[in-house]
Amino acid sequence: MADSSSGIINAIDKESVHKICSGQVITTLSTAVKELIENSIDAGATIIDVKFKDKGLKSFSVMDNGDGIEEENFDSIALKHHTSKISKFSDLTSVDTFGFRGEALSSICGVSDFSMTTRHKSVSIGAKIEFGRDGRIKKKTKVSCQKGTTVLIENIFTNLPVRRKEFERNIAKKDFPDTLNKIVEYGIILDKKITVTNTTGKGKTDRLLNVSGGEDVKSNVSQIFGIEQIKNIIPFIQKPPSDEVLEEYGIKNEKDHSDFIINGYISSPDHGKGRSSPDRQFFYVNNRPCDMKKLSKLVNEIYHTFNKQQYPFLVLNIRLSKDSVDINVTPDKRQLMLNNEKYLLSIVKTSLLEFLTPRSSIYTLRSNP
Ligand code: ADP
Ligand code: MG
Repeated sequence: MADSSSGIINAIDKESVHKICSGQVITTLSTAVKELIENSIDAGATIIDVKFKDKGLKSFSVMDNGDGIEEENFDSIALKHHTSKISKFSDLTSVDTFGFRGEALSSICGVSDFSMTTRHKSVSIGAKIEFGRDGRIKKKTKVSCQKGTTVLIENIFTNLPVRRKEFERNIAKKDFPDTLNKIVEYGIILDKKITVTNTTGKGKTDRLLNVSGGEDVKSNVSQIFGIEQIKNIIPFIQKPPSDEVLEEYGIKNEKDHSDFIINGYISSPDHGKGRSSPDRQFFYVNNRPCDMKKLSKLVNEIYHTFNKQQYPFLVLNIRLSKDSVDINVTPDKRQLMLNNEKYLLSIVKTSLLEFLTPRSSIYTLRSNP
């Protein structure tokens, strides 16, 4: 490698730091869309409308009917680590909002052309605000609009040529389906009306999701995946972990126990009712969509003892006290750290074994010494 170093340690200029860091927070279309949806939810929206143009290659917007943003906050909206949700580290243990790092909008600005229209609930006129790559306001005009916020993102990643090329290459097969899947995660668990459309380059608009934010998870699942999907799902019935399973996980003391409340649904393992890939499995901790590798591996292993060929449809929402979970492990907050995770696994294992085992086999197992 060429030696370009002078041996002097200098600070990287602010603009470059911003560009370097933004590209790590907003890595894909789906991370950007997820952050915007979470902002709408945090603003108290009951309606969220996501519109893609050319699957996001050209632009995408997220409109909500939340509280909107007050004029005094306009300058801070897209500045790094500026947030209305926490002010100090200790607030993290009580935070109720999806966001708290104050870096999503700043990072989106760093990798796209970013503008928004917003009207706070306390005023009668809104504002259209255009931001520069550095998160500062370029232009601001008064507009009349509904209460709430619409965020518009154009030309994402065009200033990161390698990523833009990857994005264009993968959009149809990977990035766009992943993005829809992320939106679906919120559609399943929340009582919000969420609509998604895509307008093609030729001007044809397709409606991709329309969930009315129904009474419960089952009704949301039915609206999203169709009535067939709920015909064969059974509610997750939580059982206390058996001594056998506790021993298997090496759990000996009360201090290794935690109060978990688990709700959800799993498809019945009767032959022919599962799916050929684990593409419809959704995990939540306190309603927050997340990745739970160990739990997902466990559930699939158990399911496969009843149905070798297929994977279950699955929705699992785990509730636990906020001080038992660390949500700040990764910038996208999808990897969570839980206290006493093994205890959670032992509850899930005992429960699944109990209610997935056909009654007749339990009888046979118990009656055969
Ligand atoms: P965070 O969500 O972590 O606070 P963001 O960069 O996502 O950080 O957003 C910065 C701030 O902008 C938020 O704290 C919030 O006050 C405001 N904001 C962003 N999106 C919306 C929205 N859709 N409605 C109302 N306020 C919003
Ligand atoms: Mg946010």
